[in-house]
Amino acid sequence: MSADAIAEATIAADAVLRVDGLVKEFSAGASGTVVAVDDVSFTIGRGETFSVVGESGSGKSTLGRAIVRGIEATAGSAWYRAEEGAEEVDFLALGRRDLKRVRRELQMIFQDPFSSLDPRMTVFDIVAEPLRASGRIATRDLRRRVRSIAERVGLDPSHLRRYPHSFSGGQRQRIGIARALVTEPRVIVADEAVSALDVSIQAQIINLLKDLQDERGIAYLFIAHDLSIVEHISDRVAVMYLGRVVEVADTDDLFSRPRHPYTEVLLSSVPVPDPDAKRERIIPLGEVPSPTDRPSGCHFSPRCHYATELCRTERPPLAETRDGRVVACHRADELTLRGIDHDLSGETA
Ligand code: SF4
Repeated sequence: MSADAIAEATIAADAVLRVDGLVKEFSAGASGTVVAVDDVSFTIGRGETFSVVGESGSGKSTLGRAIVRGIEATAGSAWYRAEEGAEEVDFLALGRRDLKRVRRELQMIFQDPFSSLDPRMTVFDIVAEPLRASGRIATRDLRRRVRSIAERVGLDPSHLRRYPHSFSGGQRQRIGIARALVTEPRVIVADEAVSALDVSIQAQIINLLKDLQDERGIAYLFIAHDLSIVEHISDRVAVMYLGRVVEVADTDDLFSRPRHPYTEVLLSSVPVPDPDAKRERIIPLGEVPSPTDRPSGCHFSPRCHYATELCRTERPPLAETRDGRVVACHRADELTLRGIDHDLSGETA
């Protein structure tokens, strides 16, 4: 199945970002090459939250960093369209001058609010930095924009004179969000944006992100390992395993009726809030393979409870099932897998 066909099967026509065949390889010296992101394609609609999930080492964070050019991709493209009908530009192929112009529209919120803010800069300068970097701006306008976004994310104007070390984790993440929003981006890549925070602060930040999305029509590429948050925030979800996307689906479909055995494993580990309810955890076979020596055929085959001989020799393409789901599994049409039963999780179906 071609990348275009996958995109057609999984996204509305008005895409703000279309990632096509993205590859990121790293040299591992004598051990060979790590293919951290392997031919990944998807699109994100305007105002949509598209999440990417997977264990540590799945390539999801590398994917996010490659899209915003925090690192350079080995191959592939990330087509950005500012508004419906406008020309698409490949963000990954832009030269320095054009990159400076377009970068303000694709921003990133980082995982760790403790290390992602420069301790030598005031909060004002941290938030103002992307605006200054994206072109000339009058001092008065700069001040007005920084104050306005700081206030919107719940920071006090007096906070702008202070340094990051004097803030809690939740406040620091608000500073990171203000910095990402100050240029009024259309796409934000949020890489584990709340995972370093306490649960109560997580909820506040998630609600803030959702409110800002409603107000401004921002599209989020939300990279996370916490599936409870992903279910709450996402419109669609892609599951990655060892660099490849193995399933893409609407959030409800993915959580209630997963079609890839790896998705089933991930869902089985989501905690059940009701202490009397029981969900059997599915433990994958064997160990996680080395990224420098990925198994042939289906990468998940040594750990999969449903593997057949074909799985060990032939790579399953990401393809449409008979009922319109997008899955990379030879047995997707025949397996009945277990999702999250909302009666068990204490929520209504
Ligand atoms: Fe399991 Fe085979 Fe499907 Fe891979 S292709 S997930 S090994 S059943």
